[in-house]
Amino acid sequence: MDSHRHNAPLGTIADAIVLSHVTKTFRGERGAEVTAIRDVSLAIPAGQFVAIVGESGSGKSTLMHCAAGLTTPTTGYVALAGTNLSALSSAKRSRFRSQHVGFIFQDYNLVSSLTVSQNIELPSRITPRLQLTADTATVLSSVGLAHRAQHLPHELSGGEQQRVAIARVLAAQPTVVFADEPTSALDLGNSELILGHLRQLASRGSTVVMVTHDIDAAIRADRAVVMAHAGTVDDIWRPGRDQLISRVMSAQQMRQSAR
Ligand code: ADP
Ligand code: MG
Repeated sequence: MDSHRHNAPLGTIADAIVLSHVTKTFRGERGAEVTAIRDVSLAIPAGQFVAIVGESGSGKSTLMHCAAGLTTPTTGYVALAGTNLSALSSAKRSRFRSQHVGFIFQDYNLVSSLTVSQNIELPSRITPRLQLTADTATVLSSVGLAHRAQHLPHELSGGEQQRVAIARVLAAQPTVVFADEPTSALDLGNSELILGHLRQLASRGSTVVMVTHDIDAAIRADRAVVMAHAGTVDDIWRPGRDQLISRVMSAQQMRQSAR
Protein backbone atom coordinates (compact mmCIF):
# COMPACT_ATOMS: atom_id res chain seq x y z
CA MET A 1 0.00 0.00 0.00
CA ASP A 2 3.07 2.14 -0.30
CA SER A 3 1.87 3.61 -3.58
CA HIS A 4 -1.41 4.62 -1.97
CA ARG A 5 0.38 6.54 0.80
CA HIS A 6 2.67 8.12 -1.72
CA ASN A 7 -0.37 9.11 -3.77
CA ALA A 8 -2.38 10.86 -1.09
CA PRO A 9 -1.40 14.52 -1.03
CA LEU A 10 -4.98 15.64 -1.65
CA GLY A 11 -8.09 14.98 0.41
CA THR A 12 -8.49 13.33 3.79
CA ILE A 13 -9.68 9.99 5.09
CA ALA A 14 -13.21 11.45 5.30
CA ASP A 15 -13.27 12.06 1.53
CA ALA A 16 -15.35 9.52 -0.34
CA ILE A 17 -13.99 10.64 -3.71
CA VAL A 18 -10.58 12.08 -4.51
CA LEU A 19 -9.38 13.00 -7.99
CA SER A 20 -5.76 14.08 -8.12
CA HIS A 21 -4.46 15.81 -11.26
CA VAL A 22 -6.67 13.73 -13.51
CA THR A 23 -6.28 14.14 -17.27
CA LYS A 24 -8.18 12.07 -19.83
CA THR A 25 -7.24 12.19 -23.49
CA PHE A 26 -9.18 10.29 -26.14
CA ARG A 27 -7.65 9.35 -29.44
CA GLY A 28 -10.16 9.38 -32.29
CA GLU A 29 -10.24 6.78 -35.06
CA ARG A 30 -8.31 9.09 -37.38
CA GLY A 31 -5.68 9.78 -34.76
CA ALA A 32 -6.98 13.17 -33.62
CA GLU A 33 -6.71 13.66 -29.86
CA VAL A 34 -9.30 15.24 -27.59
CA THR A 35 -8.43 16.10 -24.01
CA ALA A 36 -11.82 15.81 -22.33
CA ILE A 37 -10.54 16.80 -18.87
CA ARG A 38 -7.19 18.35 -18.02
CA ASP A 39 -5.46 18.31 -14.62
CA VAL A 40 -8.62 18.11 -12.54
CA SER A 41 -8.25 17.79 -8.75
CA LEU A 42 -11.33 17.45 -6.58
CA ALA A 43 -12.13 16.06 -3.13
CA ILE A 44 -15.67 15.19 -2.08
CA PRO A 45 -16.41 14.34 1.57
CA ALA A 46 -18.63 11.40 2.50
CA GLY A 47 -22.31 12.28 2.61
CA GLN A 48 -22.02 15.32 0.36
CA PHE A 49 -24.44 15.95 -2.53
CA VAL A 50 -22.48 17.62 -5.34
CA ALA A 51 -23.69 18.94 -8.69
CA ILE A 52 -21.28 19.13 -11.63
CA VAL A 53 -22.52 21.81 -14.03
CA GLY A 54 -21.25 23.38 -17.22
CA GLU A 55 -21.96 23.60 -20.93
CA SER A 56 -22.17 20.58 -23.17
CA GLY A 57 -18.73 19.21 -24.03
CA SER A 58 -17.03 20.75 -20.99
CA GLY A 59 -16.00 17.32 -19.66
CA LYS A 60 -18.69 16.60 -17.04
CA SER A 61 -19.43 13.02 -18.09
CA THR A 62 -15.75 12.20 -18.55
CA LEU A 63 -15.00 13.48 -15.05
CA MET A 64 -17.80 11.29 -13.70
CA HIS A 65 -16.66 8.20 -15.62
CA CYS A 66 -13.13 8.64 -14.27
CA ALA A 67 -14.42 9.19 -10.72
CA ALA A 68 -16.54 6.02 -10.96
CA GLY A 69 -13.70 3.89 -12.28
CA LEU A 70 -15.50 3.25 -15.58
CA THR A 71 -12.67 4.99 -17.46
CA THR A 72 -9.00 4.95 -16.55
CA PRO A 73 -7.40 8.40 -16.45
CA THR A 74 -4.56 9.04 -18.89
CA THR A 75 -2.62 10.62 -16.02
CA GLY A 76 -3.45 11.31 -12.38
CA TYR A 77 -5.30 9.05 -9.98
CA VAL A 78 -8.69 8.46 -8.42
CA ALA A 79 -9.52 7.12 -4.96
CA LEU A 80 -13.01 5.98 -4.00
CA ALA A 81 -13.81 5.28 -0.34
CA GLY A 82 -10.07 5.25 0.38
CA THR A 83 -9.23 2.77 -2.40
CA ASN A 84 -6.86 3.82 -5.17
CA LEU A 85 -8.68 2.61 -8.29
CA SER A 86 -5.53 2.75 -10.43
CA ALA A 87 -3.95 0.09 -8.21
CA LEU A 88 -6.75 -2.40 -8.99
CA SER A 89 -6.94 -4.77 -11.94
CA SER A 90 -9.94 -4.25 -14.15
CA ALA A 91 -11.70 -7.29 -12.61
CA LYS A 92 -11.08 -6.03 -9.08
CA ARG A 93 -12.20 -2.55 -10.08
CA SER A 94 -15.44 -3.94 -11.40
CA ARG A 95 -16.02 -5.94 -8.20
CA PHE A 96 -15.27 -2.80 -6.17
CA ARG A 97 -17.84 -0.89 -8.23
CA SER A 98 -20.53 -3.50 -7.68
CA GLN A 99 -19.95 -3.33 -3.91
CA HIS A 100 -19.69 0.43 -3.48
CA VAL A 101 -21.04 2.37 -6.44
CA GLY A 102 -24.56 3.04 -7.72
CA PHE A 103 -25.31 4.44 -11.17
CA ILE A 104 -28.19 6.46 -12.51
CA PHE A 105 -27.12 6.73 -16.13
CA GLN A 106 -29.13 7.06 -19.30
CA ASP A 107 -27.04 4.64 -21.33
CA TYR A 108 -25.84 2.42 -18.52
CA ASN A 109 -29.03 1.57 -16.81
CA LEU A 110 -31.24 -1.48 -16.91
CA VAL A 111 -30.74 -5.04 -18.14
CA SER A 112 -33.27 -5.39 -20.95
CA SER A 113 -34.10 -9.07 -20.39
CA LEU A 114 -34.93 -8.62 -16.69
CA THR A 115 -38.13 -7.24 -15.19
CA VAL A 116 -38.17 -4.04 -13.20
CA SER A 117 -38.09 -6.03 -9.92
CA GLN A 118 -35.25 -8.25 -11.10
CA ASN A 119 -33.25 -5.20 -12.14
CA ILE A 120 -33.61 -3.75 -8.66
CA GLU A 121 -32.54 -7.02 -7.03
CA LEU A 122 -29.65 -7.55 -9.45
CA PRO A 123 -26.86 -5.81 -7.47
CA SER A 124 -27.44 -8.04 -4.44
CA ARG A 125 -27.57 -11.16 -6.65
CA ILE A 126 -24.22 -10.31 -8.24
CA THR A 127 -22.67 -9.31 -4.92
CA PRO A 128 -23.98 -11.60 -2.16
CA ARG A 129 -22.35 -9.46 0.52
CA LEU A 130 -24.41 -6.48 -0.58
CA GLN A 131 -27.46 -6.29 1.68
CA LEU A 132 -30.42 -4.43 0.29
CA THR A 133 -31.53 -1.79 2.80
CA ALA A 134 -35.11 -1.67 1.55
CA ASP A 135 -37.33 -4.16 -0.26
CA THR A 136 -38.22 -3.93 -3.93
CA ALA A 137 -41.90 -3.13 -3.44
CA THR A 138 -41.09 -0.28 -1.05
CA VAL A 139 -38.54 1.41 -3.29
CA LEU A 140 -40.72 0.98 -6.36
CA SER A 141 -43.67 2.61 -4.69
CA SER A 142 -41.42 5.42 -3.43
CA VAL A 143 -40.71 6.33 -7.07
CA GLY A 144 -44.35 5.84 -8.08
CA LEU A 145 -43.81 2.61 -10.05
CA ALA A 146 -45.34 -0.09 -7.82
CA HIS A 147 -47.60 -1.17 -10.70
CA ARG A 148 -44.63 -1.70 -13.05
CA ALA A 149 -42.73 -4.38 -11.09
CA GLN A 150 -43.25 -7.17 -13.61
CA HIS A 151 -42.65 -5.12 -16.76
CA LEU A 152 -39.55 -5.21 -18.95
CA PRO A 153 -37.52 -2.01 -19.39
CA HIS A 154 -38.56 -1.51 -23.04
CA GLU A 155 -42.18 -1.37 -21.89
CA LEU A 156 -41.40 1.78 -19.88
CA SER A 157 -40.80 5.37 -20.96
CA GLY A 158 -37.32 6.89 -20.65
CA GLY A 159 -38.40 8.77 -17.53
CA GLU A 160 -39.82 5.59 -15.97
CA GLN A 161 -36.59 3.69 -16.69
CA GLN A 162 -34.69 6.50 -15.01
CA ARG A 163 -36.91 6.11 -11.94
CA VAL A 164 -36.25 2.34 -11.85
CA ALA A 165 -32.50 3.09 -11.82
CA ILE A 166 -33.11 5.39 -8.87
CA ALA A 167 -35.17 2.73 -7.07
CA ARG A 168 -32.27 0.31 -7.55
CA VAL A 169 -29.89 2.77 -5.90
CA LEU A 170 -32.37 3.41 -3.06
CA ALA A 171 -32.57 -0.33 -2.38
CA ALA A 172 -28.78 -0.76 -2.20
CA GLN A 173 -27.78 2.59 -0.57
CA PRO A 174 -24.26 2.41 -2.09
CA THR A 175 -21.28 4.31 -0.67
CA VAL A 176 -21.16 6.54 -3.74
CA VAL A 177 -23.92 7.35 -6.23
CA PHE A 178 -23.27 8.82 -9.68
CA ALA A 179 -26.15 10.32 -11.64
CA ASP A 180 -25.69 11.66 -15.18
CA GLU A 181 -28.46 14.14 -16.07
CA PRO A 182 -30.97 12.29 -13.83
CA THR A 183 -33.76 14.82 -14.41
CA SER A 184 -33.35 15.26 -18.16
CA ALA A 185 -36.12 12.82 -19.14
CA LEU A 186 -38.47 13.83 -16.32
CA ASP A 187 -41.35 16.26 -15.90
CA LEU A 188 -41.28 18.78 -13.07
CA GLY A 189 -43.09 16.60 -10.51
CA ASN A 190 -40.85 13.61 -11.09
CA SER A 191 -37.72 15.78 -11.11
CA GLU A 192 -38.67 17.00 -7.64
CA LEU A 193 -39.28 13.43 -6.52
CA ILE A 194 -35.89 12.26 -7.75
CA LEU A 195 -33.98 15.23 -6.34
CA GLY A 196 -35.65 14.57 -2.99
CA HIS A 197 -34.45 10.94 -3.15
CA LEU A 198 -30.89 12.00 -4.00
CA ARG A 199 -30.93 14.39 -1.06
CA GLN A 200 -32.20 11.61 1.21
CA LEU A 201 -29.45 9.23 0.04
CA ALA A 202 -26.88 11.86 1.02
CA SER A 203 -28.51 12.45 4.41
CA ARG A 204 -28.18 8.70 5.05
CA GLY A 205 -24.45 8.87 4.32
CA SER A 206 -24.11 8.10 0.59
CA THR A 207 -21.98 10.53 -1.39
CA VAL A 208 -23.98 11.74 -4.38
CA VAL A 209 -22.47 13.22 -7.55
CA MET A 210 -24.95 14.53 -10.11
CA VAL A 211 -23.96 15.82 -13.53
CA THR A 212 -26.58 18.23 -14.82
CA HIS A 213 -27.18 21.24 -17.01
CA ASP A 214 -30.44 21.88 -15.14
CA ILE A 215 -29.76 24.86 -12.85
CA ASP A 216 -32.88 24.18 -10.79
CA ALA A 217 -31.59 20.66 -10.12
CA ALA A 218 -28.05 21.89 -9.34
CA ILE A 219 -29.18 24.36 -6.67
CA ARG A 220 -30.64 21.44 -4.69
CA ALA A 221 -27.10 20.13 -4.10
CA ASP A 222 -24.83 21.14 -1.21
CA ARG A 223 -22.19 22.27 -3.65
CA ALA A 224 -21.87 23.05 -7.35
CA VAL A 225 -18.63 22.47 -9.26
CA VAL A 226 -18.64 24.45 -12.52
CA MET A 227 -16.77 23.05 -15.53
CA ALA A 228 -15.59 24.76 -18.69
CA HIS A 229 -12.95 23.94 -21.24
CA ALA A 230 -12.02 20.51 -19.79
CA GLY A 231 -11.43 21.84 -16.28
CA THR A 232 -13.17 22.89 -13.08
CA VAL A 233 -13.44 26.67 -12.95
CA ASP A 234 -15.62 27.31 -9.92
CA ASP A 235 -16.66 25.55 -6.72
CA ILE A 236 -19.67 27.04 -4.95
CA TRP A 237 -21.05 26.05 -1.54
CA ARG A 238 -24.88 26.10 -1.30
CA PRO A 239 -25.32 27.84 -4.66
CA GLY A 240 -28.18 30.27 -5.19
CA ARG A 241 -30.03 30.25 -8.51
CA ASP A 242 -28.99 33.68 -9.82
CA GLN A 243 -25.44 33.22 -8.54
CA LEU A 244 -25.07 29.87 -10.28
CA ILE A 245 -26.51 31.14 -13.57
CA SER A 246 -24.06 34.04 -13.62
CA ARG A 247 -21.08 31.81 -12.76
CA VAL A 248 -21.98 29.28 -15.48
CA MET A 249 -22.43 32.09 -18.01
CA SER A 250 -19.11 33.69 -17.15
CA ALA A 251 -17.41 30.29 -17.35
CA GLN A 252 -18.76 29.92 -20.88
CA GLN A 253 -17.59 33.38 -21.84
CA MET A 254 -14.12 32.62 -20.47
CA ARG A 255 -14.13 29.65 -22.76
CA GLN A 256 -15.32 31.63 -25.77
CA SER A 257 -12.66 34.28 -25.32
CA ALA A 258 -10.04 31.53 -24.97
CA ARG A 259 -10.98 30.14 -28.38
P1 ADP B 1 -20.11 16.79 -21.21
O1 ADP B 1 -20.60 15.61 -20.43
O2 ADP B 1 -19.79 17.97 -20.37
O3 ADP B 1 -21.04 17.16 -22.32
P2 ADP B 1 -18.03 14.95 -22.14
O4 ADP B 1 -17.24 14.59 -20.96
O5 ADP B 1 -19.04 13.99 -22.64
O6 ADP B 1 -18.72 16.39 -21.90
O7 ADP B 1 -17.03 15.27 -23.35
C1 ADP B 1 -15.96 16.19 -23.24
C2 ADP B 1 -15.20 16.21 -24.57
O8 ADP B 1 -14.56 14.95 -24.77
C3 ADP B 1 -16.07 16.43 -25.78
O9 ADP B 1 -15.36 17.23 -26.69
C4 ADP B 1 -16.29 15.04 -26.32
O10 ADP B 1 -16.51 15.06 -27.71
C5 ADP B 1 -14.98 14.36 -25.98
N1 ADP B 1 -15.15 12.91 -25.75
C6 ADP B 1 -15.87 12.36 -24.75
N2 ADP B 1 -15.82 11.00 -24.82
C7 ADP B 1 -15.07 10.71 -25.91
C8 ADP B 1 -14.63 9.49 -26.56
N3 ADP B 1 -14.97 8.29 -26.06
N4 ADP B 1 -13.86 9.60 -27.67
C9 ADP B 1 -13.51 10.80 -28.15
N5 ADP B 1 -13.87 11.98 -27.61
C10 ADP B 1 -14.64 11.94 -26.51
MG1 MG C 1 -22.45 14.51 -20.55
